[in-house]
Amino acid sequence: SERTLVLVKPDGVQRKLVGEVLSRIERKGLSLVAAELRTIDDELAAQHYAEHDGKPFFNDLLEFITSGPLLAAVVEGPRAIAAFRQLAGGTDPVEKATPGTIRGDFGLETQFNLVHGSDSAESAAREIKLWFPAL
Ligand code: ATP
Repeated sequence: SERTLVLVKPDGVQRKLVGEVLSRIERKGLSLVAAELRTIDDELAAQHYAEHDGKPFFNDLLEFITSGPLLAAVVEGPRAIAAFRQLAGGTDPVEKATPGTIRGDFGLETQFNLVHGSDSAESAAREIKLWFPAL
């Protein structure tokens, strides 16, 4: 079994899609290990998105991800990392995510793509430690 970090980003919380996302996670057969609603500061945001530092959308991304409450969760199950990325769909909700995925069903813009899921075992370990140091 494997763990992944999932975020329902501020757009998802504002649009009241937390239940929808958690429902899809549970229906897939994955388990919630931890979940917390919080508004993060620039420091955590910059650490989380360190790989995008210097990219043209970095400042907008930090502004967005710190703009209001988000749901951070640790999700567990067999192949949880790939399984959640399948549920989420591709980064661009229109060009990449297909209908039936969270982004494909509810998203329109790449910046406001509702959810995050760790993209590798290394990212998952780093992100879980960053967001849930006690776990
Ligand atoms: P996430 O890391 O949030 O799961 P991802 O792995 O699908 O998303 P990344 O390429 O890591 O996509 O980009 C991280 C986040 O940065 C995206 O989810 C999106 O919110 C934002 N982003 C990525 N590319 C762009 C872009 N071209 N314009 C605006 N925002 C972008």
